[in-house]
Amino acid sequence: MPSSNFPVTAVQQSRLSRVDFDQLGFGAIFSDHMFSMSYQNGEWINPEIQPYQPIALEPGVSMLHYGQTVFDGYKAFRGVDGEVRIFRPDMNAKRLHDSCRRLCIPIMDAAELSDIMIQATRQLIELDQDWIPRQLGQSLYVRPLIIGTEATLEVRAANSYRFLIMTSPVGSYFTNLGKGVSLRVEDRFTRAASIGGLGAAKTAANYAASLLPGFESKQQGFDQVLWLDGNEHRYVEEVGAMNIFFKIGGKVITPPLGGSILPGVVRNSVLTLLEDWGQPAEERRIAIDEVVQAFRALPGCQHRLPGRGL
Ligand SMILES: *Cc1c(COP(=O)(O)O)cnc(C)c1O
Repeated sequence: MPSSNFPVTAVQQSRLSRVDFDQLGFGAIFSDHMFSMSYQNGEWINPEIQPYQPIALEPGVSMLHYGQTVFDGYKAFRGVDGEVRIFRPDMNAKRLHDSCRRLCIPIMDAAELSDIMIQATRQLIELDQDWIPRQLGQSLYVRPLIIGTEATLEVRAANSYRFLIMTSPVGSYFTNLGKGVSLRVEDRFTRAASIGGLGAAKTAANYAASLLPGFESKQQGFDQVLWLDGNEHRYVEEVGAMNIFFKIGGKVITPPLGGSILPGVVRNSVLTLLEDWGQPAEERRIAIDEVVQAFRALPGCQHRLPGRGL
């Protein structure tokens, strides 16, 4: 890990006193500082930490039109011992690197990206340590973002980019954790193509595709969409912002990574833990009908199955 620090321009006045840590919600509040780096003339340059602030972009920037943008997300937690820990950021750096490759973003090599991202995160956390929430279930969400910044209406990879890392004190993503998360099985729309699409990249297009189905699910009283494969709408893929596991007949099962679903760090961690505990999960295709059948077989569950909702 490089110990050299990135140059810092600190805020004149912190916004921290305006934050109500009892009402954080998810992702609406940004800490005082962000990391910024640029790509110009074939080089990644000017890594620095500066006040979180608006960035200037021409309206003709192709990213705004054609979506050449990738992001990732991970969390720093304050433990009961007071120490701050970042959950497996090396995995996120690797995924961000993979996303860049898919979106034709000329990223540095994977090890260098990981070093820069983790070092920048540590420095941001140190600088904005009072923004790290203390209540159980809260954390500091870290959001790296890479966007094309070249003004051109041609459909091609940009030749200039900005790499930003911002942080946001957050409560739980779901507000009703005690009750679990209700899912609506999506049988008309598709999140990502089954073969050769963008599903494995954390890129804007996948989330744009999910907005209308997500909105309709909310209207019908569900928290999230459960996506099926894009070919037949038959096999389970994942949920809007997380991977999914089922426990059927005593076995834990999860869909395999096949390029259409996001390779989650939590997914990887769950698989690793189950393996360590001597109860390895099965990674295999799961037809939605298998899930429905298993659900119907559970005692007392029949009456809770409205249509294809689970
Ligand atoms: C980010 C994301 C996940 C979960 O990733 P983790 O690394 O486990 O947090 C799963 N699915 C989608 C669509 C995502 O965007």
